[in-house]
Amino acid sequence: MTGLESALLDAARAADHRDACARLDAGDRLASCRDRFALPEGLIYLDGNSLGPLPRGVPERLHRVVHDEWGDGLVRSWNAAGWIDLPARVGARIAPLIGAQPGDVLVADSTSINLFKVLAAALRLRPDRHAIVTERGNFPSDLYVAQGLVAHLGGHHVLRMVDGDALADAIDEDVAVVMLTHVDYRTGRMHDMAAVTAAAHGAGALALWDLAHSAGAVPVDVTASGADMAIGCGYKYLNGGPGAPAFVYVAPALQALTVSPLTGWLGHAAPFAFDPAFHPADGIRRMQCGTPAILALAALDAALDAWEGVAMADVRAKSLALSELFIARATADCAPLGATVALPLPPERRGSQVSLRHPQGYAVMQALIARGVVGDFRTPDLMRFGFAPLYTRYVDVWDAVAMLHDVLASGAWDRPEFRERAAVT
Ligand SMILES: *Cc1c(COP(=O)(O)O)cnc(C)c1O
Repeated sequence: MTGLESALLDAARAADHRDACARLDAGDRLASCRDRFALPEGLIYLDGNSLGPLPRGVPERLHRVVHDEWGDGLVRSWNAAGWIDLPARVGARIAPLIGAQPGDVLVADSTSINLFKVLAAALRLRPDRHAIVTERGNFPSDLYVAQGLVAHLGGHHVLRMVDGDALADAIDEDVAVVMLTHVDYRTGRMHDMAAVTAAAHGAGALALWDLAHSAGAVPVDVTASGADMAIGCGYKYLNGGPGAPAFVYVAPALQALTVSPLTGWLGHAAPFAFDPAFHPADGIRRMQCGTPAILALAALDAALDAWEGVAMADVRAKSLALSELFIARATADCAPLGATVALPLPPERRGSQVSLRHPQGYAVMQALIARGVVGDFRTPDLMRFGFAPLYTRYVDVWDAVAMLHDVLASGAWDRPEFRERAAVT
């Protein structure tokens, strides 16, 4: 942040100075990126941590892929339109966002399935060890995948679920892999990836990171931090669309030793040799299983255009400034009305989202959404607000808190239709 920015931010924090926020937007180096998205008029979208908005180039790209490549090109497009290489090409575009080399990231399957693949591979790399260490508060799908794998392997392994502050004690000589989500989906708390990875390595264990709430949200450097494996999501901060394919990274030194448990033909060294015996491809391509979903991959590829010329340092600076502004305003205006910051954190331990706790958080969030401020809710009482710096403005944060204050002060949330739980919260 520049001196001017922090001065303006102080002004915005101090009192009712929406103008200061507008001035921050006017001087924002990322301001022009907002135009790269087709955001609905008048909506304040603070849920890009759950589903990123539609990047402008996606509809046209999908139209071209459907009509020209599929419609006219048909099966020829596997070669002519380069469909067969798309998982690696899109992976190469995600690589710089996580500090990997272009050839070390592949886009395939979903985050949960990629977790299964790398977690199983990690256990095979440490055959004499029995424990997987993770956090009790990790995203449930990650916990379920690990539980399913442990059961599938005959119960010879254990899943050690501990609290975040007990991780160091839990990493002993029996641990094969430490499996963590870098940024907590509920509270936005961020682990020190390098420090935890070093602790895992110190005990002879591997470190596997879920970057679902990190890729495109915070600077990540899998190379410098020594991460062994990583996975992450295509539809959150990468804006690839609902159910977009996910990514998988394996450290270069481990790739030749890594065996996916899902040995499909497109992970074979020579898929079109139709050899009855499986021989894994070199490099990260061995983590592919079957035929990629080309329409979804093309959408994610086009969505990644939004990152052209964007420096993660700018993204991080703005993300922290937006979060600071939100925390300061929410603490001043909403905490007295019962909505408090769920987990106060120093900036270096914060991802790109902030959660507020309120006993009626679900209904309050529904009332807020009805007024055009979209966040989401996580049980039991958390209202989540994501700050995606490519399209979120300082005035959006200001207006969102003002709206929240209004909903709380007026009791507008206290209506039966806002309490009714939908299938997706
Ligand atoms: C969103 C998210 C997932 C999603 O997994 P899917 O397979 O795409 O449903 C996994 N892990 C974490 C930590 C997430 O936040």
